[in-house]
Order: sequence, then structure tokens, then C-alpha cells
Amino acid sequence: MDLDDLYQDLLLDHFKNPRCHGCPNNSDAETELLNPLCGDKITLGVSSDGKTLVDIGFEGRGCSISQASASLMSELCKGKPITEVKHLAQMFRKLMRGEISEQEAAELNDALALAGVKNFAPRIKCAVLGWEALERCLDELAADEA
Ligand code: ZN
Repeated sequence: MDLDDLYQDLLLDHFKNPRCHGCPNNSDAETELLNPLCGDKITLGVSSDGKTLVDIGFEGRGCSISQASASLMSELCKGKPITEVKHLAQMFRKLMRGEISEQEAAELNDALALAGVKNFAPRIKCAVLGWEALERCLDELAADEA
């Protein structure tokens, strides 16, 4: 499977011109994740004031799905309240499991372009990698506060 099967233009644009590229200089949490099945790598950094995801950025390499997904995720979550960001991560996982309602799906905005990935099990890990890195960063932020 390649981007031909998905929303090619939007995903290709995010792959070639990743949004939020480069980890923030003042990251409060940073995570590096690998997907050995595909050779994808995402390094994600976030900064937060305790309530809001003030800044987010990533670096990485790998397939177009993994990189476009990390870009879409970063764009969607930047500047949003942490509680909402956690919710969005859960919604994306629901999307990949095919369990999402139409109303919930609308919250994912452009990240919905990846909906078709759920039909290609080996690639789900590619699409989720950036979101998984995000969740780890949020865990790290919560641990720092506790
Ligand atoms: Zn991949």
C-alpha cells in the first residue's frame, strides 16, 4: 500500500513539507520511538505550561505514512489543552481500530486522511507511531509534575 490508496495530496504535502519540524529548543519532554517493522523513527519534543501543549515538534525518518501522520498530529495538537490532546490521541487509536463514531472522527480534522490505514494492519503502527510518542511525552510531563 502507498499513499495512492489514501488522501494522496494532503498526505504527500505533509510528508514533503512536515509541519512543526524540529523539536522545540525548550522541550519539557522528549521521546524517541522506533518502528522496526518498517524502519520508521520519530523523535518528538513538547513544551507545556502545565495546562496547554504550548509547543510541539518532531524529527524523523521512515515511510510517508509515519512522517505525514506525525506532521498531522503535531499540527492538530499544537496549542491545545493537555486534556484535549489526550482525548485526541484516544480518538486516533479508535480510528485505527475502526471503532470511531462520525462525531468523534470530525474532531481529528485533517488527521482523518489516515483513516484508510486501518484496513492495512501492518501499516497501523506507522500511523500510530507519532501519537504513541505524544502519549509518552504527556506521561513524562505528568510524572514531572507529580
Ligand atoms: Zn512505516
